[in-house]
Amino acid sequence: MKRASAPAAEPSFKGNKQSLPSKPCVACGRPMTWRKRWARTWEQVKYCSEACRRKGDAAATSAIGERR
Ligand SMILES: [Zn+2]
Repeated sequence: MKRASAPAAEPSFKGNKQSLPSKPCVACGRPMTWRKRWARTWEQVKYCSEACRRKGDAAATSAIGERR
């Protein structure tokens, strides 16, 4: 049985989604749900998106700039 009759995005899999880990984005506070691409870096992921990442980096950079 090698037929792909049951794709990963199966509707019946919906209920299992909540078992995935999640945590809030440090920049915007929105909950991020675990993604497969984060499987290896999940503990290091802090931002939900590139925009938030820049936001966080910008804040850190300006803080450093203040100190000179
Ligand atoms: Zn965010």
